[in-house]
Amino acid sequence: MTAINIYHFMPDKLNLYGDIGNIIALSKRAKWRGIDVKVTDVKETAGLKLSEADILFIGGGSDREQAIATTELFKIKDEFKAAIEDGVPALTICGGYQFLGEKYVTPDGHELKGLNILDFYTESKTERLTGNIVIESETFGQIVGFENHGGRTYHDYDTLGRVVSGFGNNDTDKKEGIHYKNLLGTYLHGPILPKNHEITDYLLKAACERKKIAFSPLNDNIVEESAKKVIIDRLLADQ
Ligand code: GLN
Repeated sequence: MTAINIYHFMPDKLNLYGDIGNIIALSKRAKWRGIDVKVTDVKETAGLKLSEADILFIGGGSDREQAIATTELFKIKDEFKAAIEDGVPALTICGGYQFLGEKYVTPDGHELKGLNILDFYTESKTERLTGNIVIESETFGQIVGFENHGGRTYHDYDTLGRVVSGFGNNDTDKKEGIHYKNLLGTYLHGPILPKNHEITDYLLKAACERKKIAFSPLNDNIVEESAKKVIIDRLLADQ
């Protein structure tokens, strides 16, 4: 059976707040549809065949881990950009999202080079943007998650959504994340995918379309009625 190949970059370094749960959510929702999944943990990039990847995933990490991971990922930045431009679905979280830009400036003014795949940058402050977050997305509806970052990201690309409660990309413009072709970047941990199956299915559907694998809907009534709605209602009531 044809499988969906998920490339999980630097899982030993970039896995804050259970980001591995995103891989589990992708795998489960594919398997519930009878679609096979193969997860490749990419700890070093030598010999990597990026053209075989159907979904790319990068989780979040501390500034220290981020610096190590950037050095490794920098080696494949041109192939990574080409994959994104070609429409390969990708999800990048927090530190992983910050990587996509030109640079990440730490609170003490130290500059970590980004992969420069997209035209934005991030600067960090010691005061962190932390807590639960709710956003409203035209593509995905209401999205809930958890954020904890010093980085403030600024850009004019399409976003994942508008912040209803919490911070998002920074503490001023109420934008959250980035949506470019089939790439999603976001500050939402939680992890985001188990809490927001619409995003999981967006990534899977895009991968299936590219690979000409049939993609069927799942019955999500139970999910709809579950924790997500309770959390969102409570967060909005507390405002
Ligand atoms: N080091 C980054 C920041 O603090 C990313 C943190 C994260 O991935 N949660 O902004």
